[in-house]
Amino acid sequence: MSVATSHLKNLDYSVMQQCMHCGMCLPTCPTYDATKIERNSPRGRIALMRAIADDRLEATKTFADEMYFCLGCLACMTACPAGVNYAELFEHARAEAERSRVLENPKRNLIRGFTLRWLFMDLSRLHLLGRVMRLYQQLGIQTFIRRSGILKLMPKRLRELEAMTPQIQPKFSADLIAPITPASGPRRYRVAMLTGCAQDLIFSDVNRDTVEVLVRNGCEVITPPEQQCCGSLHAHNGEWELAQDLARKSIDQFPPEEFDAIITNAAGCGSHLKHYSHLLADDPRYAKRAHLWDEKVKDIHEWLAKIGIEAPRVNGAAPLNVTYHEACHLCHGQKITAQPRQVLRAIENVQLIELPESMWCCGSAGIYNIIQPEMATDLLERKVKHIQSTGAQVVATGNPGCMLQVLNGCRTAGLDVRIAHPVTLLAEAYRGDH
Ligand code: SF4
Ligand code: SF4
Repeated sequence: MSVATSHLKNLDYSVMQQCMHCGMCLPTCPTYDATKIERNSPRGRIALMRAIADDRLEATKTFADEMYFCLGCLACMTACPAGVNYAELFEHARAEAERSRVLENPKRNLIRGFTLRWLFMDLSRLHLLGRVMRLYQQLGIQTFIRRSGILKLMPKRLRELEAMTPQIQPKFSADLIAPITPASGPRRYRVAMLTGCAQDLIFSDVNRDTVEVLVRNGCEVITPPEQQCCGSLHAHNGEWELAQDLARKSIDQFPPEEFDAIITNAAGCGSHLKHYSHLLADDPRYAKRAHLWDEKVKDIHEWLAKIGIEAPRVNGAAPLNVTYHEACHLCHGQKITAQPRQVLRAIENVQLIELPESMWCCGSAGIYNIIQPEMATDLLERKVKHIQSTGAQVVATGNPGCMLQVLNGCRTAGLDVRIAHPVTLLAEAYRGDH
């Protein structure tokens, strides 16, 4: 591959050189923990990336498979004493894998073309699909098919995927949230709210709860009904140019100069949204604004902790045992660990029970549970065992992928536990629903 088209060869070499091979990251890496093979560790993967940058290795299928075996959980970044920017390396490595075309086959090309290049490039298409799925579920066709035994005739993998199909919400965010929601008291801040892509279909109620909590805490909230995907799915799956296009569109739709903050409640999106300046560093029209954008993007927990949380009145409410699973892209990607606990502790009747290995990936990792089902299932079972050990009634977590994954895991294990975003618990407490 020529230097002109190689993502790793073009990457700032100082990023590539940061790793000093100390191995401190190895015990925190779920894939290395599972296999004990150096190649499956952060250090091993960085060595492969550097070999390509140094022209000692071609981007082979083995290289590409390795980059897709990595969860992108970023636990290695938290552990690394040298400050290696694995997030950046990982995105460029996956882009290199795609540019090399070593993984291409007709089925993969079709799926990627349909999802990344078509469905998620215009969310009106995703909404249309969501409405069809909602009809399929509301008319009872899904229940009928599940009970009829037809699924038994399908290949095992398809049956597993069908079981993971999320419940589509009866209303999407635009039906639940006004384009402009005034602060409930004096306006202290003017913020924009990103409703997300999958989040909008599966957890639009969390978006509504987020707006309710924001207005209760003095924010006027701007929520345009038509939004676009933030591009995190594209950047994490090697579609660098598409991710850049979506970043430009986001900046155009939410001019960072006009808001005190741009709020997201999805950890995976937030982690990506805060790095538009990397994506658009070479774009003279957007580079400067992208820096301001990065500063304005705030995860909802981070923002609430910063502006102060009005404590809800929960007089007489029964104690609620809650445990907290940390989404990788919140704790490792954004280093946000204390603030979600602050949100939960603001609710007087919540008793927070710490989850063992709360920072260990649940196996969701974007679409990892679809493309690497075995590893994802092992991680999920480990997570569910820990959840069970807490005896909690509720698992709180701040990312739609984690919410779905943990929900599926608890359901499979027959665990009677509710999965909720911390902001939903806070919104319910404001409403007196506890
Ligand atoms: S991102 Fe996660 S899976 Fe990938 S190397 Fe780092 S710790 Fe391991
Ligand atoms: S901890 Fe950091 S410097 Fe050490 S091997 Fe891992 S990535 Fe390299």
